[in-house]
Amino acid sequence: MKVLSVAGYHHTGKTTVTIELIKELRKRGFNVTSIKDIHNENFTMEKKGSNSWKHAQASGDTVIARGITETYQIWNRQLSLNEMLSHLKSDYVVVEGMKDVALPRIVCAEDEKQLKELIDGTVFAISGKYANDHDKYEDLNVFHSKEQIKELTDLVVEKVFHVLPLPKLECCGECGMNCREMVSGILAGRNKREDCKTDRNLDIKIEIAGNDINIVPYVQNTLKDIIKAYVNNLKGYHEGDSIDIKIRE
Ligand code: SF4
Repeated sequence: MKVLSVAGYHHTGKTTVTIELIKELRKRGFNVTSIKDIHNENFTMEKKGSNSWKHAQASGDTVIARGITETYQIWNRQLSLNEMLSHLKSDYVVVEGMKDVALPRIVCAEDEKQLKELIDGTVFAISGKYANDHDKYEDLNVFHSKEQIKELTDLVVEKVFHVLPLPKLECCGECGMNCREMVSGILAGRNKREDCKTDRNLDIKIEIAGNDINIVPYVQNTLKDIIKAYVNNLKGYHEGDSIDIKIRE
């Protein structure tokens, strides 16, 4: 699944860019999901006092609210990006916000002061209000969210790659860098997506409820050693056999 972020300060045009990009990707035949990161502490999809709000309060966990035309699943906590992605199956996920996670980013800005604060190697394009009177900032192209959405989408299709397994800063470091540096390296052509060592050549695979779980190499090796030490003494096991374990509760 390819995942990118449209990031920037409030009122710089992020939502317009996100929506136009989703529409253009869908026109090209891709399945697209979007995630909107919301910083308002009081945000809730539920009206206080509604019946589904009462379900959510009582459950303290997950509640599904099924209507005639829409169905919501509500978690009573903030999910990490990885958790959200594990529930999605689409060609592209466009995340509005989450400027700190290790994703390729389009930055929306009003002026150069904002761009200076936001731009690093994970940014591959600029859009938003700044595009009203600029077409370039340093070596990055600037795209108008409506007039140049086709060109911006071309760049998304060219640049955005399969999401890294641990898109956060405190990642494994097995590649000799962190995930943000890997994103920058891939965008700049210094690295390839296959240089991430965590989801490559997995010797061990864990699925929970049908979703693959990413495991850092150190944990892969530890788990593999423990399981192999256990089955080594079992009748019928030969070195090199694959081992499948399923736990059902
Ligand atoms: S190996 Fe992959 S997950 Fe680990 S730091 Fe590098 S890019 Fe991130």
